[in-house]
Amino acid sequence: MDCIFCKIANGEIPSTTLYEDEEVRVIFDINPASVGHVLILPKTHAASLLEYPTEKLGTIFAIAQKIGNAMIQGLPCDGVNILANCREAAGQTVDHFHVHIIPRYANAPTKDAMTIESGTIEKPDFDALKEAITKAF
Ligand code: 5GP
Ligand code: ZN
Repeated sequence: MDCIFCKIANGEIPSTTLYEDEEVRVIFDINPASVGHVLILPKTHAASLLEYPTEKLGTIFAIAQKIGNAMIQGLPCDGVNILANCREAAGQTVDHFHVHIIPRYANAPTKDAMTIESGTIEKPDFDALKEAITKAF
């Protein structure tokens, strides 16, 4: 399969690597949203977080936590956004699971990392939503 993040994660395409172990490679985003924006790329292909083996997700988020804390101490930055876009409708542009870690700085304008505007829809029926989602668990 011709997947650019598979090639980067497995070292076929060189990258500045912040961290690497058996499961992941962490690289700097080519088009950063802030200074220090990185991506955690698993070395095995999954289209998004939704397809990644559940039992391996803990490892990915443990790495995200470690890097987030290291960014706050080391850069330093004042906060981080840790997020994964899943599927095109959610803004995913590369179909290989990746977690963004975006350092945030108190002296920069604080915007939610999501560009979705809150408060623009009718008040939802929370009970109906709960039922629709939980029946699919
Ligand atoms: P998504 O929108 O899929 O959540 O994020 C994809 C991210 O990958 C974007 O922030 C984009 O800048 C980054 N990206 C795309 N291609 C490359 C690449 O070849 N190298 C690096 N380092 N980042 C990339
Ligand atoms: Zn891939």
